[in-house]
Amino acid sequence: STLRESLIKKTKTVCTYCGVGCSFNVWTKGRKILKVEPHIEAPVNGISTCVKGKFGWDFVNSQDRLLHPLIRRGDRFETASWDEALDYVSSKLREIRSEYGPDSIGCISSSKCTNEENYLMQKFARAVMGTNNIDNCSRYCQAPATFGLRRTMGYGGDTGSISDIAQADLVLIVGANPAESHPVLSTRVRRAHKKNGQKLIVSDLRKNDMAERADLFIHPNPGTDLVWLSAVTKYIVDQGWHDAEFLNSRVNGLEVYLPSLEQYTLEHASAVTGISQEQLIQVATMIRDSKRFCILWAMGVTQHVGGSETSTAICNLLLITGQVGRPGTGAYPLRGHNNVQGAGDFGCAPDVFPGYEPVADEAIRSKYEKHWNVKLPTERGLNNHQMVDAIHEGNLRAMYLMGEDMTLVDANANYVQSAFEKLEFLVVQDVFFSKTAQYADVILPASPSLEKEGTFTNTERRIQRLYQVLDPLGESRPDWRILLEMARRMGATWDYQHPSEIMAEAAAAAGMFAGVYYDRLEGYQSLQWPVRPDGSDSPLLYMNDFPLEGGKARLIPTQFFEPVCWTDPSEYDLHLNNGRMLEHFHEGNLTYRVSGIAKKVPTTYVEISPELAYERGVENGTLVRIVSQYGAVRVRAVVTDRVQGKELYLPMNSSKHEEAVNYLTGNATDRNTNTPAYKEVSVRMEVLNEK
Ligand code: SF4
Repeated sequence: STLRESLIKKTKTVCTYCGVGCSFNVWTKGRKILKVEPHIEAPVNGISTCVKGKFGWDFVNSQDRLLHPLIRRGDRFETASWDEALDYVSSKLREIRSEYGPDSIGCISSSKCTNEENYLMQKFARAVMGTNNIDNCSRYCQAPATFGLRRTMGYGGDTGSISDIAQADLVLIVGANPAESHPVLSTRVRRAHKKNGQKLIVSDLRKNDMAERADLFIHPNPGTDLVWLSAVTKYIVDQGWHDAEFLNSRVNGLEVYLPSLEQYTLEHASAVTGISQEQLIQVATMIRDSKRFCILWAMGVTQHVGGSETSTAICNLLLITGQVGRPGTGAYPLRGHNNVQGAGDFGCAPDVFPGYEPVADEAIRSKYEKHWNVKLPTERGLNNHQMVDAIHEGNLRAMYLMGEDMTLVDANANYVQSAFEKLEFLVVQDVFFSKTAQYADVILPASPSLEKEGTFTNTERRIQRLYQVLDPLGESRPDWRILLEMARRMGATWDYQHPSEIMAEAAAAAGMFAGVYYDRLEGYQSLQWPVRPDGSDSPLLYMNDFPLEGGKARLIPTQFFEPVCWTDPSEYDLHLNNGRMLEHFHEGNLTYRVSGIAKKVPTTYVEISPELAYERGVENGTLVRIVSQYGAVRVRAVVTDRVQGKELYLPMNSSKHEEAVNYLTGNATDRNTNTPAYKEVSVRMEVLNEK
């Protein structure tokens, strides 16, 4: 047995399945994954994991892995050597750049990739290609939360740590379903609720698992959260329950903000949101009665035309009540992907460098010009939503996608796919042959997280190291190595032997990461940004001041935008909500390749309320066709009282491309950030009499 044990390797990694950021040891023998062993030292999860973290790894040995570079020849893809593929890509990109200019090319980074890889991708776009056309999928989920937080409090991240949430007397969850999307975090809330007498309010369209446990569950009409949040805030001010001292000493903008609340009377809010005035008063009273109050929110808030305004309203409520800067208080936008926080932090956005330093600021730009020894583009670039429009308009000719299945995960899939058909040149760098890869000219095989080193940043701004568990399969390579080779072929003099050197370069440029060095991240050690040069980090933000004018936070008046799903109730009489399910991850490229999970939940389904099912003659398992103005999908029905009335719920995690929810979603986006209004979809349902 000693010999057997000596063949077993135990390597620390960080889960790639959600923003909670659990870490654990993976036991392997050869390429076989023996088990996942959580470790007491793991800063977020200790000895817990959820089903995905524990069992979700077989995909690394899947037969479907991309093992060699592929180049399109006519209708087929042919295997190519790395040299051939890299030379071809670099010559095509040069050609397109010289013919149409650098802004005819767009780069998309990945929330599944490491911080170092994201840093390199934005550097590749800016310093090598010469464009700020760089974005990542936080545009699809959390950009509105970041926007709301930055304008009111200063930093685009959770204000405290996950462990702090247990100290709250009251937790308000708005438009999030942590029991399925952030399982280990939800167990923390559940425990505090049960053992410490913590109170819980859930506002959601769906009576999800957390709502079942809540002391108060409220169900607003779709897209109206801003109205009830503002009404509760106004009621608190009217009753004199606000924190006058906090507002006085730590917050700017009260004079402008207060008049903006005038319209949000209880009466008005109740009419718009469908929430009774008694319930609104109950929410306000519960907030008054708690010393420590925090708000958790996710895509139920952000994926609306007013997503960033509602995120701002959440921050306003916290500031008015002085619930920021102490443990158990504050704002927690729950990040979805494991590294969606990091992708934004390390500059994969068209308007900011790493650390959210604006590209339009000349002093900052010249800092990066010196740092990278190149001339940089001055104009902000296109975000991923604008890139799709620009392809249709003939202004964007080529794209380089790293780990993003954009033709399925962006809204209005038919529109995105018809754009991708027009691209002159498309590079897809990924682990599997995704839907988007079908449109590619060159496919580059990337290694998943277990086959590389680097760091991820979780939802509470915690940077953690992952170590290489397995060798890259076939000829696949870690994304940072591919980018390095590509940049060299494009004439850059990059030289990195290890991701630690990339992090050191980022730390030297962006103040937020000044003290982030690998030797401070060994094993289970971690750092929460901002990290000062001496290595001290920030588990809790805003204890003394805010990084805004005068060290004070800012109240910002908000504007309510009518949801686009309010239009045309005659043809499209139902509302379609969508989100995650526990077992699967996003578009499903990974988890449907894990046989145990795929067996348990083989594909997606649509949830229908008992009353609607009765009215339309639908039973469990009935095949239905859901039709929106943009497209249609066929799925089976699940009749459940988790959803109410005319509201449907379709998990976004489909095993078949043609069932993807984004064939139904449309082009409307958040007014400030262009995050698609995925949650504002009107549909009709046809019952199919097929087995
Ligand atoms: Fe992974 Fe999230 Fe589950 Fe933790 S809670 S094991 S990070 S999917």
